Amino acid sequence: MPMPANDSLVRYPDGTTSCRATVLAVTVSDDRIIVLTDQTPFHPIDPRWPDQGADRGVLTFGGHSVPVIDCVVGATDGIGLFVGDAVPVRRGDPGWSFVVVHMLAGAGPSPEEGELVELAVETEYRLQLSAGHTGCHVAALALNSALTGRWRKSVAPDGLGRPNFDQLAIVSSKIIPNGAVDGYRIGKSLRKRGFDVVGLSAALPEITAAANSELARWVASAGTVEVQVSGPRLTDLREWVCLLPEGTVRIPCGGTHLRSLAEVTEISVNLVFDESAGELVMSTSVTRPG
Ligand SMILES: [Zn+2]
Repeated sequence: MPMPANDSLVRYPDGTTSCRATVLAVTVSDDRIIVLTDQTPFHPIDPRWPDQGADRGVLTFGGHSVPVIDCVVGATDGIGLFVGDAVPVRRGDPGWSFVVVHMLAGAGPSPEEGELVELAVETEYRLQLSAGHTGCHVAALALNSALTGRWRKSVAPDGLGRPNFDQLAIVSSKIIPNGAVDGYRIGKSLRKRGFDVVGLSAALPEITAAANSELARWVASAGTVEVQVSGPRLTDLREWVCLLPEGTVRIPCGGTHLRSLAEVTEISVNLVFDESAGELVMSTSVTRPG
């Protein structure tokens, strides 16, 4: 079966959760059915930076409604299809298309090439991930703000002009429903860049309180949030854009988000520092009304 010659059209950046689509290719791999479509509302997990996981939902065709059990970024050279970690090239490499790979259970029915299908994402789960992802970015800015006084040298600033601790130290980020967990490495290289780690453990309650007070102020400002796209396809650049009292912040981001901070009642963080491992973990929780 011929593979798509173009990158998938993605509908999730503007918050879309369902759409009709044409099936471009169907293949059976291991015990799974892989379905590629011309467009999709499903956010796939990206193994390059797997912060936000796959959407949940169903694929409906010919009287069947089948759960999409996983959704992953893949790439094809027109002949082979490589999924997730197996993708051997970078985005933009000539001759390759990056696609959203929908996985169905192997034993069930499968749609046919050329068939018109309906893709629908579970909306409440999506909303919880969007809330978690928006909270994650805002919390990172609040952490940068709370750690400003610990920098002894000047480093690259974030969108609000504060030293960008988040960008310089982050090693992992996991978006969870209504929250996020971010891991930061505080080691020799960060100290060399001018980050003062002396007394960090003792200062943690104060830093946490400072971050949470920024977050309360920002949530109260009810600023708009949007994902701006440079184009409609999977590999096009996308940015999270948030209006805060101090200014408009832009962060490159492939995920999904709320439309406004007015959709949450609280964003708060908890910090844990493992001094011997040199790891700071920030857990963010987002409270939505109702
Ligand atoms: Zn993001």
